[in-house]
Amino acid sequence: MNDYSQLCKNLVPRKVEHTYERPSWWRVRIPEIIEDVNAVKKGKVEVLTHTPGGFPVYAVTYGEKLPQHGPVNWPSLTGSRRPELYTNTKQQTLMFMAGIHAEEAEGVMTLSNFISLMETGVDRRGVARPHLMELAKNYRIVLLPCVNMDGRSFGPDCLMGCTPEDYGPIQTRLKNGKYLVWPDLKEYFPLPMDQVDQLGTYYNFEGVNIQLDAAPGNIISNEAKAILKIAHDERIDCMVNMHSARENPHFVHPTIINLPGNFKTVHAINRIWSEKIGRKLGYGEEACSVQCDINDAVSLATGAVTMTYEFAALRVEKFDNKLETAYAMMETVMEYGMERPLAPRKALLSK
Ligand SMILES: [Zn+2]
Repeated sequence: MNDYSQLCKNLVPRKVEHTYERPSWWRVRIPEIIEDVNAVKKGKVEVLTHTPGGFPVYAVTYGEKLPQHGPVNWPSLTGSRRPELYTNTKQQTLMFMAGIHAEEAEGVMTLSNFISLMETGVDRRGVARPHLMELAKNYRIVLLPCVNMDGRSFGPDCLMGCTPEDYGPIQTRLKNGKYLVWPDLKEYFPLPMDQVDQLGTYYNFEGVNIQLDAAPGNIISNEAKAILKIAHDERIDCMVNMHSARENPHFVHPTIINLPGNFKTVHAINRIWSEKIGRKLGYGEEACSVQCDINDAVSLATGAVTMTYEFAALRVEKFDNKLETAYAMMETVMEYGMERPLAPRKALLSK
């Protein structure tokens, strides 16, 4: 294992007003992420790549890796008679990924707790989650505990209690004094770093928003390349990309680029999980997004169902609620996959 102690020296989270002091089990700082990954014994740890800042991007895997069909890619199999050859269908593989946007720390916190559950039977609060652990035994599980380690190196622990007016310290400010705010910040890719006065937590140190580093042939960050590589190497069936939004947890609508079958799966999982947590849906199952991002690139590369889950970062509630809601989401995905394949590749391609 590399020694990252020099890099971890003097890291200070940027201060954001009106937020709350985190509990000790909410471990989202770089030295904590590295410590938690280094403590993994039952799972396997791999450094997928390094960020421009030199931080490791980890994958932690659990469950047996079954042999796969020879070297073939998903696009090739989509034209074959046997698209199901993409994966060893005796087993499904789930990928949970956190921290692409580094101020959205709830996913990082959740995967840290999930790793603790897998390793010790209790999460970092000392609480067991037997149903989730029983479900997890049925899958190969791939965890990317924090993708944007650069942004996380100065990102705050949480944003609970803030309003968007408090975001100044984590937003990108240009040398002309202008802040780049959502969605105008998406007019730049990557950021013009020579014009940046203060870098925001959305980006790695080269100004790349990894979530949108998804143009085939022009993928520029090591982090996005690593996501696509491991998704294919592991022949994943499902990817949950963990982000955080404001007051309500939700799944982002599936994109129109997705295979119709995967599109339905995202809505079905969303409906089942929403019923579980008592959330009312104000839209039907035709609702879609026209944006494209890394999820679409992963779907194109693997045929997997991919979805973005958003925590309620700003909502003032018990810290535990944010974790419990995410556990319910993870259980829903796993329960769904026990009843039917998450990515039934042959059926996905039938017209
Ligand atoms: Zn995000």
